[in-house]
Amino acid sequence: MHARTPYRVTAVACAFIVISCLASVAVAADDAATSKGASVDWPFHGLTPHEERHSPLDQINRETVGRLGLAWSFATGSRRGLEATPLVIDGVLYASSTWSKVFALDAATGRELWHYDPKVPREVGRKACCDVVNRGVAHRKGRIYVAALDGRLIALDAGTGAEVWSTQTVPKGGDYTITGAPRVVNDLVVIGNSGGEFGVRGYITAYDAETGKQRWRFYTVPPPPGQPFEHPELEMAAATWSKQSDWASGLGGTAWDSMAHDPELDLLYVGVGNSSPYNREVRSPGGGDNLFLTCILALRPATGELAWYYQTTPAENWDYTATQHMILTDLTIEGRKRKVLMQAPKNGFFYVLDRATGELISAEGIAPMNWASHVDMKTGRPVETGRGNWADQAAYVMPGVAGAHNWHPMSFHPGTGFVYVPTLSNVWPFHADADYAYEPGVMNTGEDWSGFHEALQWILPFCEAAHLTAWDPVAGREVWKIVHDHPINGGVLTTAGGLVFQGNGGGFLAAYDATTGDRLWKIDTGTGVMAPPVTYQIDGHQYIAVLAGIGGSPAMNFANYRNDNAGRIFAFRLDAKDRMPATSPPPARVVSVEPRPLDPAEVTRGRKLFGTHCSRCHGPWARSTGWLPDLRYSSRAVHDGWESIVIGGAYEGKGMASFADQLTADDARALHAFVLDRAFAANSIIERLQAWAADNLCIPAEWMAD
Ligand code: CA
Repeated sequence: MHARTPYRVTAVACAFIVISCLASVAVAADDAATSKGASVDWPFHGLTPHEERHSPLDQINRETVGRLGLAWSFATGSRRGLEATPLVIDGVLYASSTWSKVFALDAATGRELWHYDPKVPREVGRKACCDVVNRGVAHRKGRIYVAALDGRLIALDAGTGAEVWSTQTVPKGGDYTITGAPRVVNDLVVIGNSGGEFGVRGYITAYDAETGKQRWRFYTVPPPPGQPFEHPELEMAAATWSKQSDWASGLGGTAWDSMAHDPELDLLYVGVGNSSPYNREVRSPGGGDNLFLTCILALRPATGELAWYYQTTPAENWDYTATQHMILTDLTIEGRKRKVLMQAPKNGFFYVLDRATGELISAEGIAPMNWASHVDMKTGRPVETGRGNWADQAAYVMPGVAGAHNWHPMSFHPGTGFVYVPTLSNVWPFHADADYAYEPGVMNTGEDWSGFHEALQWILPFCEAAHLTAWDPVAGREVWKIVHDHPINGGVLTTAGGLVFQGNGGGFLAAYDATTGDRLWKIDTGTGVMAPPVTYQIDGHQYIAVLAGIGGSPAMNFANYRNDNAGRIFAFRLDAKDRMPATSPPPARVVSVEPRPLDPAEVTRGRKLFGTHCSRCHGPWARSTGWLPDLRYSSRAVHDGWESIVIGGAYEGKGMASFADQLTADDARALHAFVLDRAFAANSIIERLQAWAADNLCIPAEWMAD
């Protein structure tokens, strides 16, 4: 085993033994980085409980980064999205993959030590809004913790991958899923869940790390009237909801990604997601702020008691989750040292809060927006423009549901003082479904899916839509911006070598000068990258590692599928010369059926069904350039076996579960008619014109902004 470094020992001690030493982590880590032959881990999701994702390692730096080469690569055997932050502990890299699988690899060579497959039933894939992804594992005292897509929290033996305990954290048969990384907080493992789009009641739960026994649970929205409040904070929350709220939908508020922990203040921070359904007039008729949707919560980790909250988007209406990455650090603001929490949620503002009290210090727009003009510093509330109202008529709202910033982690570099944020300029056509009523097992956002998919096909992308933004959190302004060719950003890592690392949907991993934004190094991995890179050191060699595999939310994922999307883990170090693995082309896009007359009424019925049941995975308007098949180019076998697949579940092993519980054979035929109609049109002049326009034209985001 590799020598334990001051850095690792200190970081672990901070979390588990001495809760007041966190500030010394950076200092100890600097010592470790400069001592030759030392090994330095990446022990927490965000490197430390503060989640800065900034490493003190500097062997790879502005001068040496040009010598970076492939040390090893590992094929995960997946073809869908990889979003995980790997952990590195004592020379072993632990990463999670699709369907919540876990791999343990020798971090110096990539050799597999063990893997673990929780065997998630494939029908659960239907309940995942945004792919069967997993964002990582947690570690404590010889155990690895993973949360499976079907809602289990599982403890594994770090040495063997054997299951130690497993606990079901969500109701069986509900529409919950889990994609987030658990966090270890003192002697607890904490995990939230997903499912806000389908209609669930969000909560976060803490379990005893040794036994898996539940310690506490914090619900993010109140129970229906007449039912007891599970904890006192829900009485305050209930006062912000209409009695006539859409209780059947669960109201949402899932905490599906971000957490951070300040051991010194003894506070656990949790980001809360969007509402269910999206539209507030339907969700809570008559208004109300609808706590604790889109909130940053500060909880006492021992009990789950609420210390304070800050709601980023009161009366949420647009899928504006506050589940985005939170960074804890100290900033000098107006001559005063402040303990801050920083977050850029989907709604377009970059927030700096006092993390001891929740006081708003600043909120500045980081991407084009038209729903709000600014945040009122007296009330802490965004000032809406009215252009985000979609109750009575369709509205084009910025940022769209992909968010100005999504789950892709950002990073804070204490040397430059900048936060590096993967940002997006995007718009979403909100169109209310006049007939909306909660229905289990389908998306319950309150939108007319077939309607907005028709609108969506005419939306041109924004020019320069995806970026890496260097943001000065004290001045509240952009310092520089890298514009990407692809509409997806990878997460970010910064290092004391003066570097910012980020991958993108085009498959490139690049290093930028943290001060100037100049690109100093890049490599083509052959597979699109969304996951955040990490760095570690073994026997004196610094490594950069990242997972590659495109997938995730279809809303942010058009036209960036690269090659056959073979999932891989890559590790790079100076002067390494391993060959990049060969890539394979994507499946051919050939219409395999001859045109024939179709019943227009059946096509229309199929279009509506497709919007509700199929488009989330197979693309709006049956056009998919993303992570699952474009059905227009289905093989003859798929066309011939349509009903056996849709109703009979013939492709369940591939993740396409039966819809027999929701659709009839007649429905399946209508769906097929719509898909055939789209397939016959695939090579038409209009389709080709639209495809050309989407590839070659774009509109300035400013045209839509206020
Ligand atoms: Ca959402």
